[in-house]
Amino acid sequence: SAKASGRNCVKLFHINDPNNRDDGENIAALLKIAVPQGLVSMVYQPLQDVATGKTYAYEALMRLKMSDGAFISPSLFIPAAERSGAIVNLGQWALRRVCEELLVTNLAPVASVNVSPLQLKTPGFVAFVARTLDEFCLTGDRLAFEITEGQDMEIHSSLLRCISDLRALGIKIWLDDFGTGFAGLSWLRLIDFDCIKIDKSFLHDCDTQRGCAMLDDILRLARNRGATILVEGVETEEHFALMHRLKIDLMQGYYVGRPAPATSLRPIRQLPKLVVVSR
Ligand code: C2E
Ligand code: MG
Ligand code: MG
Ligand code: MG
Repeated sequence: SAKASGRNCVKLFHINDPNNRDDGENIAALLKIAVPQGLVSMVYQPLQDVATGKTYAYEALMRLKMSDGAFISPSLFIPAAERSGAIVNLGQWALRRVCEELLVTNLAPVASVNVSPLQLKTPGFVAFVARTLDEFCLTGDRLAFEITEGQDMEIHSSLLRCISDLRALGIKIWLDDFGTGFAGLSWLRLIDFDCIKIDKSFLHDCDTQRGCAMLDDILRLARNRGATILVEGVETEEHFALMHRLKIDLMQGYYVGRPAPATSLRPIRQLPKLVVVSR
């Protein structure tokens, strides 16, 4: 595949090889050409309302293809894109793509989009989002932005301002991967998230008594914030049953549905009422 990358001379043959340490330069080079060369795409995974079984939203997930057709894992290219700053352009491309592909065609009532802290910090971000909604004749209540509690994420007043400006557009603000980072609790003190996504590790640890107690604790913490609760990583029938027993609001995972391109999703007949807790 190194040869196949031809005259772009981006040597990517070892990117997915766990024995190779990529210094990020190869991925950074690929990221620069990725959008113009059509190597980036979005796939969509259903977020299901546990009580009704209806798809409440789709989460948009980015995919990056190498010239040989193989995909690079987002856990590799997203951090690289954040380091190089490429995430700002990629994120803009992604938002427009999701609006066009998912919302305008009414494949989902709501799209949740992962937004990097770097995007939130970029001047003009809110204006870009507002312009994009206008361009596609969409209202902000069709969008949720997922923010992951990152380790180097400081909460400045400008960030809080950005979040409240997005809220003023009707956009919901969700906390992603809750329980994995260092900043989660300080985030919770400062921001009223519309939805808290409990990281999949808490559900997967539920095969032990200790793990179950942890899930219980984190659910109580999240529920006391008044947020909608989503649990990630529903992979088995047992997980699925547990979601009902625990009266979780929303769930996501391979058992419910895998990420798929928009072309394979069925259009929804009518927009369901947006019933899940809103503030
Ligand atoms: P995330 O936002 O927490 O997304 C959920 C990840 O869990 C996705 O991985 C999804 O494919 C995977 N997943 C879903 N169901 C299951 C399950 O039942 N079991 C397991 N083990 N995994 C499941 P993916 O697509 O590889 O994305 C990884 C991360 O990359 C995302 O985690 C998100 O943080 C980041 N990412 C993806 N797309 C974007 C994007 O467009 N922008 C930004 N800033 N970050 C993105
Ligand atoms: Mg996410
Ligand atoms: Mg997540
Ligand atoms: Mg996650």
